Amino acid sequence: MAKQKLALIGNGMAGVRCIEEILKIQPERFEVTVFGSEPHPNYDRIQLSNVLQGATTIDDITINDWNWYKENNITLFSGETVTNIDTAKQIIYSDTNRAVEYDQLILATGSIPFILPIKGADKKGVTAFRNIEDCEKMIEYSKSYKKAAVIGGGLLGLEAARGLLNLGMQVDVIHLSEYLMDRQLDPTAGKMLQRELESQGMNFYLGKQTQEVLGEFDVKGLRFSDGEEISADLVVMAVGIKPNVQLANDCGIPVNRGIIVDDYMKTGIPNIYSVGECAEHREMVYGLVAPLYEQGKVLAKKICGLDGKSYEGSVLSTKLKVSGVDVFSAGEIFEDEQAKSIKEFNEWNGTYKKVMIRNGKISGAVLFGDTKESNNLLSMINKNADVSEYLKVGTSGDPSSLVTSMSHEEIVCGCNGVTKGDIVTAIESKGLTSIEEVKGCTNASRSCGGCKPLVGDILELTLGADFSESNHKESICTCTTLSRDEVVAEIREKNLTHTREVMNVLGWNTSDGCSKCKPALNYYLGMIHPVEYEDEKESRYVNERLHANIQKDGTFSVVPRMYGGVTNPDQLRKIANVADKYNVKLLKVTGGQRIDMFGVEKEDLPSVWADLDMPSGYAYGKTLRTVKTCVGENFCRFGTQDSIGLGIALEKKFERVGTPHKVKMAVSACPRNCAESGIKDLGVVGVDGAWEIYIGGNGGTHLRAAELLCKVKTSDEVIEIAGAYLQHYRETANYLERTSVWVERVGFDTIKTIIGDKQKRIELNQRLDEAISVLQEPWKEIIESKAIQTGLFQKVKIPAKSNK
Ligand SMILES: Cc1cc2nc3c(=O)[nH]c(=O)nc-3n(C[C@H](O)[C@H](O)[C@H](O)COP(=O)(O)OP(=O)(O)OC[C@H]3O[C@@H](n4cnc5c(N)ncnc54)[C@H](O)[C@@H]3O)c2cc1C
Ligand code: SF4
Repeated sequence: MAKQKLALIGNGMAGVRCIEEILKIQPERFEVTVFGSEPHPNYDRIQLSNVLQGATTIDDITINDWNWYKENNITLFSGETVTNIDTAKQIIYSDTNRAVEYDQLILATGSIPFILPIKGADKKGVTAFRNIEDCEKMIEYSKSYKKAAVIGGGLLGLEAARGLLNLGMQVDVIHLSEYLMDRQLDPTAGKMLQRELESQGMNFYLGKQTQEVLGEFDVKGLRFSDGEEISADLVVMAVGIKPNVQLANDCGIPVNRGIIVDDYMKTGIPNIYSVGECAEHREMVYGLVAPLYEQGKVLAKKICGLDGKSYEGSVLSTKLKVSGVDVFSAGEIFEDEQAKSIKEFNEWNGTYKKVMIRNGKISGAVLFGDTKESNNLLSMINKNADVSEYLKVGTSGDPSSLVTSMSHEEIVCGCNGVTKGDIVTAIESKGLTSIEEVKGCTNASRSCGGCKPLVGDILELTLGADFSESNHKESICTCTTLSRDEVVAEIREKNLTHTREVMNVLGWNTSDGCSKCKPALNYYLGMIHPVEYEDEKESRYVNERLHANIQKDGTFSVVPRMYGGVTNPDQLRKIANVADKYNVKLLKVTGGQRIDMFGVEKEDLPSVWADLDMPSGYAYGKTLRTVKTCVGENFCRFGTQDSIGLGIALEKKFERVGTPHKVKMAVSACPRNCAESGIKDLGVVGVDGAWEIYIGGNGGTHLRAAELLCKVKTSDEVIEIAGAYLQHYRETANYLERTSVWVERVGFDTIKTIIGDKQKRIELNQRLDEAISVLQEPWKEIIESKAIQTGLFQKVKIPAKSNK
């Protein structure tokens, strides 16, 4: 039977969660197509606050990577906006003129940030806080500017302000009300919060209405309605969101504030549903994930034709994600004739608790300074518990007694609706030992992460004496409870030689592994058995399989190697000829000093490489990318050393060898450092009669200055040290861990001691040389093998952006 066509507009948290739920129920029923305006796979928007505060990185907030779409046969059009829906013919049109038919359609277009309609709001330096690009913009501004103003003293504004403080900016927060978070807190808690944040360095302008953004083109400051002015280089508007309903409205789908849906998330048009922040249910629109995920569950059952529970609406609860500040609020928060409260205020500890009671039932709560009881209280609010139940357990204050007293039906993870019973059952039946594993199996703590401490308490309670030693262990993925070090040790000890064998012998809980463990195991096996191990191409990401970089439009980019960034007329002629012959759309000189050819069709790749007759630059690989060099002593009047010669020697020696993540090197011939050696995984700087070697630098998202490892006299010594360093990294880093992170995790001094030991250096280089001895030029191998060409490069449509 032909599959039904299911389309999703909006690749965000709510829509994709609904698809996940559908796949759980009926993985084969639909042919799924997803459109997303943002050029990213589905990511955890909630964690943007933590990215800004430096607690996590953009790389780490992906919920479902490109491979997930492929593995589930989902066609993803990312970076593509749907502009029209023909609801009669059931066809969607996008801004690239793509037309896609559907049988069922889900609208999950989320919200758009509200920008105050004031003079100057369009100036350079004004931003919202909604997506990855906003976050990157703030990080970028913090590098050059000092003063930030955040308009909005609600959750989002305060999280943005804390992030900007962490980025080294001075931060003013402007808020219309007289106290902070006035929609979630009462004045007592709001003022306590203000004092705490002031002690962290935030400055507040309360009861102020912003009237104008000052400056000619760039932001220079703000003027308030009372005439007061403050200076600012960056203005963040965090004043609210509005449901993104333009598309629905234009296409005749009934809309009020949001897209109007019934209790099964059906809109007013046949076969069209809506979930997420864009949906309006019983006159409510929601701006937190817990209700949106509930909606997704209800809709998944509906679309799969199952009789399920209807969506009845949700009780909202919030937690502020600012380190050092514990704030919780749920349900109603203000007293009136019928609603009374129990309050506890401890000025000494800085804690405050208010529990609301309406008609003898728990109806709301505000906690400040100590939020351990938040989940208990939320459960009681959700089930409309009698006040006597609260009085029985709520005042003990002991977290372990709170966990013990929780019933198995009580919700632990509010975002994902996971109960204590779900977690205990998963721990007991699957032998889980860490929070990460619980997250993988149950979804608990997968979104805002606020329930992590409680999940930890449940683990502790369930595991008893086994808890402490096991909980610190991080498994390599949710298919196993083993950590990276344990897997590597087992492979060595049991002499395991294939990924399947590793999974079988070490008791993986999935039959095929996942997109996280498969490439990692392939790497570890290759590192441990460099000569015997046959690389498993199918375990690699698509770029590494095809030895080219897939681009947003599904074509590829090709980068031939130019050792040390040096080229010659013959190579340039070959590149020019290939560019003409294969209709290359863009020729670009890269930051790594070589030439990138964009827009090559997949089936042309083997002949492009044959015509180029140059080695691969491995611009796609987890290996040495480039060795950037400065011009050095031969031409530069400051040069003290032959930087180009050393750069070429390093690149020729270490090219192609597999590493946990990409590796970049640079050689500069004097401390002016034109090759930027200070931000490379390995950077070399010439000083009078010697070379300084720096390690662990990074110029990307984890900007990190490399640290001076040692100073040596000759180029041969540099190569020997570099070899030992590279092999030690290969042997001890986690797969996908850059050297900048590895150096911090393992410790610079530990690495320095190992590399400083002559005997260890020799042994490390011997093992590296063994690995290098079997390497082959991949493009040459493909040109010479018809079988690889037919297997990999025949005309098969690869979805755009399908690589990690
Ligand atoms: C910084 C920050 C912190 C937050 N913290 C919390 C928190 O602690 N707890 C909590 O519960 N919630 C929090 N939230 C809110 C939470 O992230 C949102 O409720 C949730 O992401 C909404 O999911 P959604 O799928 O409805 O919308 P979105 O995640 O916004 O997804 C909608 C997607 O649809 C795309 N789209 C729109 N129109 C089109 C179109 N025509 N064609 C193609 N694509 C389209 C958009 O580009 C977007 O990617 C936070 C939000 C932010 C920004
Ligand atoms: S790093 Fe020094 S030697 Fe190299 S190009 Fe710059 S100034 Fe010249």
